[in-house]
Amino acid sequence: MPAIRMDGRAVAARWKEEARKRAEHCLEHGVTPHLAVILAGEDPASRVYVRNKENACAKAGIRSTVIRLAQDCTQEELEKTVLTLNEDPGVHGILVQLPLPKHLCEARVLALVHPDKDVDGFHAMNAGRLMIGQKGFVPCTPLGVMKLLEAYGIPICGKHAVIIGRSNIVGKPMAMLLLAANATVTLCHSHTQGLAELTRQADILVAAVGKPGFVTAEMIKPGAAVIDVGINRTQDGLTGDVEERAADVAGFLTPVPGGVGQMTIAMLLSNTLDAAERHGC
Ligand code: NDP
Repeated sequence: MPAIRMDGRAVAARWKEEARKRAEHCLEHGVTPHLAVILAGEDPASRVYVRNKENACAKAGIRSTVIRLAQDCTQEELEKTVLTLNEDPGVHGILVQLPLPKHLCEARVLALVHPDKDVDGFHAMNAGRLMIGQKGFVPCTPLGVMKLLEAYGIPICGKHAVIIGRSNIVGKPMAMLLLAANATVTLCHSHTQGLAELTRQADILVAAVGKPGFVTAEMIKPGAAVIDVGINRTQDGLTGDVEERAADVAGFLTPVPGGVGQMTIAMLLSNTLDAAERHGC
């Protein structure tokens, strides 16, 4: 039987509707939820992502402001922009669209975003909170994966979850969330030896590598839930990290597009509303 396609679009639509109601509630209490996005440079993919975020905010009734900085903007200019947004009581969430132009230091900029406005969950304070099980902002993509697993009733407690990729924005927080949900977690990366042997033991397999077709059908345990986080631009359009034949082996599979990407945006709305609701709505 082919894998059940996990419809991120449908699950995200429910979260977006919930966000719309929460935004309405805030407005009724005199608070306009407001996300500020800083877009530095001309990266075409980043421009698409930012446009999608703007559209999603508009539909949910969340105000969004995009601050566009030139490709050759200085570190100082960028940092000043973040500090100004930190001080603005009308701005609830701040997002710095990554990647930044090469000459800019990502780590320094992310460290300046006020942790209470860090709706991407990239600040060290929020990463630390996640690690020690305290409440804070959780990065949108792994949070969206958790909500997707939940929506499809996929058991996590006691299961073996294998994650390929250890970035700060996907792999590591994904590992923390699955661990907090009582999975046994294996976190793999480019130096991992015997990768296929490990992935074949996974009840839940998360691929966040950024290489089209990296996970083959042979690497999957029959019946496993396979979450494809990858977004790769190829000649055939957008594809994930998991090859199509995986659907013959997996029990559940997320499509690309229409899977995790949709959930990421829904979680950004949710995090922005969490930030706005701290202002008494
Ligand atoms: P990074 O490039 O930061 O991380 C990639 C990870 O893959 C690294 O940890 C790297 O290991 C690992 N890796 C690379 N080659 C191998 C290999 N041969 N074997 C095992 N591991 C390997 O990427 P991101 O985490 O930022 O993103 C991953 C993918 O997810 C991308 O396609 C990105 O576009 C997509 N993405 C999708 C989102 C969504 O909303 N759906 C959101 C964010 C990202 P090492 O650390 O050793 O280098």
